[in-house]
Amino acid sequence: MTRYLTKSRFILALECETKLFYTGKTEYADHKKDDPFLSALAEGGFQVGELAKLYFPGGYEIETLAHEQALQQTQDLLERESVILYEAAIRHRNLFLRADILIKDGSSLDLIEVKSKSFKGSGPEDMLNRIGTIQSDWIPYLYDVAFQKHVLALFFPQMQIRSYLLLADKNARATVDGLNQRFLICKQDGRSRVRVREGTTPETLGEPILIRVPVDELAAAIYEGRDGPSRDLPFAEWVEYLAECYEQDRKIPTELGSKKCSKCEFRCTVEEERTGLKSGFKECWREQAGLKEKDFTEPLVIDLWKSNSRDSFLKRGIYFLRDIDTELLQPKSGGAGRVDEKPGLSKSERQRLQVEKARSGDPSPYFDADGLKAETERWVYPLHFIDFETTQVAIPFNRGMAPYEGIAFQFSHHRIEADGRIAHAGQYLHGQRGEFPSFAFLRALKEELEADQGTIFRYAAHENTYLNIIYAQLRQADAGEVPDRDELCEWITTVTQPTERNQGCWVPGRRNMVDQLELVHRYFYHPATGGSNSLKRVLPAVLGSSEYLQSKYACPIYGRGQEIPSLNFESWSWIRRDEGGTPIDPYRLLPPIFEEAEEDDLEHLVSDPKLADGAGAMIAYARMQFSEMAESERRAIQQALLKYCELDTLAMVMLWEYWSRELMSG
Ligand code: SF4
Repeated sequence: MTRYLTKSRFILALECETKLFYTGKTEYADHKKDDPFLSALAEGGFQVGELAKLYFPGGYEIETLAHEQALQQTQDLLERESVILYEAAIRHRNLFLRADILIKDGSSLDLIEVKSKSFKGSGPEDMLNRIGTIQSDWIPYLYDVAFQKHVLALFFPQMQIRSYLLLADKNARATVDGLNQRFLICKQDGRSRVRVREGTTPETLGEPILIRVPVDELAAAIYEGRDGPSRDLPFAEWVEYLAECYEQDRKIPTELGSKKCSKCEFRCTVEEERTGLKSGFKECWREQAGLKEKDFTEPLVIDLWKSNSRDSFLKRGIYFLRDIDTELLQPKSGGAGRVDEKPGLSKSERQRLQVEKARSGDPSPYFDADGLKAETERWVYPLHFIDFETTQVAIPFNRGMAPYEGIAFQFSHHRIEADGRIAHAGQYLHGQRGEFPSFAFLRALKEELEADQGTIFRYAAHENTYLNIIYAQLRQADAGEVPDRDELCEWITTVTQPTERNQGCWVPGRRNMVDQLELVHRYFYHPATGGSNSLKRVLPAVLGSSEYLQSKYACPIYGRGQEIPSLNFESWSWIRRDEGGTPIDPYRLLPPIFEEAEEDDLEHLVSDPKLADGAGAMIAYARMQFSEMAESERRAIQQALLKYCELDTLAMVMLWEYWSRELMSG
């Protein structure tokens, strides 16, 4: 079988040309292996694709996946003077593509690439940055179109080809209710499809919520090498080279890079290696940096926290954290005179600490007891720990809403009393289909937190961001439809600080939430986190080094009616050990949300890395909203979601317990 360079393989090569060699091979681990059903749920791509077809009605869909058949059907239909095709198949030598929408009118062809990405501008100029080059966010989308236009031009040299991106228009508002429930995702004959609700016509869709952006000029800049990542070959030759290497299964060696390698999907977990899977990541680092097997237990330069210098270290042949000259990290002292004027570690001090711990092989955590103690003096009991699960739905629920409007559908809440009693105090999960959840979510949250003046903790900016989003949504809502609108807005202002969208609307609230992640950044570093401060990395590290937590949570004290009451667990022990005696990561003790994919792989299904942590909950929510399922399956997903979110706030509590013990013992 011919190995074609398709548009998705081309985009993979744009990330890293070496990846072309590993992709599709069963002997290599691949965490981005696409599950079309879950991807469709994660990004809303299928639904947007179906909506797009309704905006260009009267076309023919090339349904078959068989290449030759699809090519033949496309060719037959293109014999017509005018025609609209969905999923047209085009091949030129070893290049192959399926075009989302292709419109032929005489000797002109319009190529329309549908993307479930939101766009706030009005034309291609809004995809450029201040110096007039393409914004990095838009690079893969524009290269995708440029590739397709290039293949079309090779195949139809006589035709005039215009290219467009069709995107979710953030400036548009739905003018009808219930738009998103018109598109249900289902599996049919092993394929993911969208079932459009009966009676859906272009008229029932209201005003368009997708925008068509002409991108020929940007594609021209890419062809001429005036824009995009620099490369040695002109565009056409580069495509030819990639296609040839892929066809002949030749590996293209590339320079290691901090951004691409740290997110590389061909990196094996320990479990995967045990099953005999190969690691593309290790192969590259062996070949490019001369690393030996034992070296992979050492922290690498790409693990250095928030550093812009990682690539320059790699270029100079510095591959390990321990080899970094800490003088180059330019430490700034804490306290007065610091740029952010906040106490605790600065960014460079933290980086230095990370390098020094790696160099000395010291596995013990850093803890600034005095710094944290000063913070605790401002805290008021009972303490509240909250975590939200949120999403952005491509097609709006209701009239007046924009595509990809942020919505909040779930929270968990743990509470600690002044005498140390801990309880899973509350939770909320909006499971109703077709309903905008955020206002009901907010009412439930307010009811839980307004009974006292205790300090509220969040982990990262997410909860503050979403309360700001809901504030703006409430301000736009009709007071008649949301009678408690002003009361809800007022409450938000007491527990948040305004973000850019609400700048100047209020001053940080008297009960403004405390960011536990910021406390980690400033007062705590654990070498076992590998430079990541995600709670999913911090929790196992903390449990691994606290005998107190290990012995406390080895007992089944957690659950309904137990010492630590829970709303979702029964007599549960959080400490279970692997064969080597190490506590198993508590997240791994939970049943998976989906049978189709491992939890770690779900994050690769969302393109925005900031959403990676909540990817499982986002996809589960979309599944409950937009796919057909039995009631038993719905219940199982809801239970899994409740447990995951509960563990997120329990993890915050455990971190707090760990710090409290350290303060007491110090
Ligand atoms: S490890 Fe780095 S160089 Fe190798 S395939 Fe992954 S991203 Fe490319």
